[in-house]
Amino acid sequence: MSAEIISGKEIRKEILAEVKKEVAEIKEKSGKVPGLVTILVGESPASVSYVTLKVKTALECGFYEVQDSQTADISEQQLLNIIDTYNNDPAIHGILVQLPLPKHIDEKKVLTAIDPDKDVDGFHPINIGRLMIGGDEVRFPPCTPAGIQEMIVRSGTETSGAEVVVVGRSNIVGKPIAMMMAQKGAGANATVTIVHTRTRDLAAHCRRADILIVAAGVPGLIQPQWIKPGATVIDVGVNRVGISETTGKAILRGDVDFDAAREVAGKITPVPGGVGPMTIAMLMKNTVNSAKRALGVE
Ligand code: NAP
Repeated sequence: MSAEIISGKEIRKEILAEVKKEVAEIKEKSGKVPGLVTILVGESPASVSYVTLKVKTALECGFYEVQDSQTADISEQQLLNIIDTYNNDPAIHGILVQLPLPKHIDEKKVLTAIDPDKDVDGFHPINIGRLMIGGDEVRFPPCTPAGIQEMIVRSGTETSGAEVVVVGRSNIVGKPIAMMMAQKGAGANATVTIVHTRTRDLAAHCRRADILIVAAGVPGLIQPQWIKPGATVIDVGVNRVGISETTGKAILRGDVDFDAAREVAGKITPVPGGVGPMTIAMLMKNTVNSAKRALGVE
């Protein structure tokens, strides 16, 4: 039987509808709306398109949105000064610096300059530490892992006691999602294994997974025979494998052999239309939560 498709597009719609409702409540209680600044350095087409989508979504949600575009030759110090201005601006509850930055700017220095209480991307070491501690300490779960967890929970997949296998150990996906799924609490309480390129028997680990989360960046890495029948499979991979002759757009594939995997899995995310659409929705959710904390709105 074919697996149920977990649609990121549909869950994104649900989350954005909830965000809009919360924005209206915040406005009613405080007279203010969440404020997000998106800082774009340079004009790389990929970064411009990501930022454009973030700005559009923030405006649709009813946020106060500042689009701050800087030329690629901005000095590191000038960028740090701009961040400092937003750190001290009470109308701004979230600061997002679009990565990657030009080579002459130290990304680590820039990310750590953001006020941890406005770090809606969740990349500041203090927020990584808070994520590790878990529970009420968590302020901003990084957006892609937060989207993955949301998809698992909203698809009705049981996480408590489940065997979760995470393929990949990057700082932006693999490590944080593994930590989040292992925490004590709702939507977590799982037994987690992280696998990577040095893992001895990748297939054997994957076969044990009730929930298989794949973030390797290798198209078609996960074979159908590596999937436990009925498992929930979250494919984070976004790989450009060619250009469509009809549309001229990139053909995207995930890390899972989707057509074959859906005959074995219980639930599965597609690529595109799976995890991808969730990331911006979670950025909006993080910004709303930041505004609520700053404005004292429950
Ligand atoms: P990354 O930094 O390149 O990390 C990839 C991880 O996968 C590494 O830990 C690597 O292991 C592991 N890996 C690679 N090949 C493997 C193999 N053959 N067997 C086992 N492990 C393997 O990638 P990332 O930034 O986490 O992104 C992963 C994928 O997710 C990419 O396709 C990316 O485009 C996508 N992504 C999507 C979203 C989204 O949809 N919103 C967001 C972020 C990323 P080692 O550590 O041993 O090298």
